[in-house]
Amino acid sequence: MKMSKLFVQTLREFPSDAEVVSHKMLVRAGYIRKLTSGVYNYLPLMWRVLKKIENIVREEMDAAGAQELLMPFVQPKELWEESGRWEVYGRELMRLKDRHDREMCLGPTHEEIITSIARDGLKSYKQLPVNLYQIQSKFRDEVRPRFGLLRGREFIMKDAYSFDTTQEGLEKEYQNMAQAYTKIFKRCGLNTKMVQSDSGAIGGSVSHEFMVITDTDAGENDVFYCESCDYSANSNHAVSNLPIEGVNVTGDWNSAKVVDTPNTLSIEELCSFLNIPATLIVKTLVYIVDKKPVLALIRGDKQVEETKLMNAVEGSDIRIATAGEIEEMMGVNGFDAAKGFIGPNGLKEYNGYPITVIADNTVKEMKNFVIGINQKDKHGVGYNWGTDVELPQIVTDIRLVEAGEFCPQCGKPLKVTRGIEVGNIFQLGTKYSKPMNAVFTDIDGKTKPYIMGCYGIGISRTAAAAVEAHYDDHGIKWPLAIAPYHVIIIPVSTKDEEQMKVAEDLYKTLIKHGVEAVLDDRDERPGVKFKDADLIGFPYRITVGKGISEGLVEFKVRETEETSNIKPEEAAEIVVTAVHKLK
Ligand code: ATP
Ligand code: MG
Repeated sequence: MKMSKLFVQTLREFPSDAEVVSHKMLVRAGYIRKLTSGVYNYLPLMWRVLKKIENIVREEMDAAGAQELLMPFVQPKELWEESGRWEVYGRELMRLKDRHDREMCLGPTHEEIITSIARDGLKSYKQLPVNLYQIQSKFRDEVRPRFGLLRGREFIMKDAYSFDTTQEGLEKEYQNMAQAYTKIFKRCGLNTKMVQSDSGAIGGSVSHEFMVITDTDAGENDVFYCESCDYSANSNHAVSNLPIEGVNVTGDWNSAKVVDTPNTLSIEELCSFLNIPATLIVKTLVYIVDKKPVLALIRGDKQVEETKLMNAVEGSDIRIATAGEIEEMMGVNGFDAAKGFIGPNGLKEYNGYPITVIADNTVKEMKNFVIGINQKDKHGVGYNWGTDVELPQIVTDIRLVEAGEFCPQCGKPLKVTRGIEVGNIFQLGTKYSKPMNAVFTDIDGKTKPYIMGCYGIGISRTAAAAVEAHYDDHGIKWPLAIAPYHVIIIPVSTKDEEQMKVAEDLYKTLIKHGVEAVLDDRDERPGVKFKDADLIGFPYRITVGKGISEGLVEFKVRETEETSNIKPEEAAEIVVTAVHKLK
């Protein structure tokens, strides 16, 4: 490709609406252009990167025994009703109607469709196991599309679905996919960590995410991990053991009483007013889960993990209640600091729904504690479960882990880092096959629902994550395997015949050997060409300048920024060898 013909417009400045590196770089270097919120044009350079990632994914999925197909992007409501997800999938599901008023949605994922394909075609145990996958655009009407390709509304995903006759079969395929994923991300030049995770809207019990670890804002997930063993988990799933020594969970009030606690709206204010540690306070937080009121009780020094809480009530959408809702719940209209004094005692229903109370495990051991009693400027102190306040029926883990708490596997302190989720694997079991009556006839003659798994990779997110992991102030440093082109050849002066001849010969030789090369034939100042080369992120740069009179070109490796003056044949050989190694 000649640079003069390459369809790319690099910008002088980073876009003003971009917050993270990959978004800034991909726009400025001419890879993507926003069409509308969370929806991007993939320009030719981007499309080359995406196709390379797709091909790596395809090769490894095929090698792992999966078969590719392609399902429609628009899906009918009926199948989503069969699985029960039409009602529960939140507002990310883009719903629409056709001219006959038939309801449809844009596919955010394809469990329903693939399950319907399987039930039509896989009737006998003899046909199983099967793993089917596709690479396709998905649409999710994300609340906050941001970070460019990292969190788009329309994005490209590889999604695979496995069908087995037994749980053992599923577990074997799950391992098979985990291995394929590890290979895929390695080939893309990405270091990933496989971490335990919550299963979210997709469902099922066991799931893992593949995270690109980053210390930037682009990492939307907190990952807790242990350096002494292999434990690692997304914060929405992580568990820990708490220190016991030196932690006081028993207050020294002799009996339960109500005390004045004026203006103590926060845990800190209450602690300092009563001169007690937060570990003596049962904190009450109010949430709305799928329109229903939920109170969460947790030890005062700990935070609630909202996904865990949502799962505890089998909800699909959670938000913290507003001040107004809390007042109404307590029946104290106009008391705008109600949330500082709320507690479970006496709260029965709200908006026609019974109020569910969930306690975190941390509150179980507490004695003679402090708790809100739904009276302004007052708290109950010296309260105990059973006698003064009922211990909720559901006591479970709804706590957000903090770094320094102890590893559930080996007891050493946990660390935290941030990660970008590029892939996710799930053991679904019969979550879709059962309600959709997707069954096969087993060896014993009985009909049984398939045991399913599903496995996603964000193709476009992986590209952006690669930029997050490989860049410097001047631009992108693509890993060779997914770079749009492998090398750029820059003649310093296009007017110099010798330079042009060497550059063109090199270009032809490289192309002949299967290298994807760009020749910068533009009549531009060398500085401009170098800047563009760095910004776009060609892994190798060969500059043909004055040194050619001594038979030398400048060879630069973008990842390390190392340069050397070598013969053109040597430069060509390094690039050809590196490219051939990719295969
Ligand atoms: P997230 O938690 O980041 O919203 P998810 O867990 O809902 O993602 P999955 O349903 O697991 O996403 O989808 C499989 C993969 O698709 C994810 O691992 C991710 O790489 C990619 N993906 C999901 N949502 C987006 C998005 N909005 N933009 C780009 N890629 C996405
Ligand atoms: Mg996921």
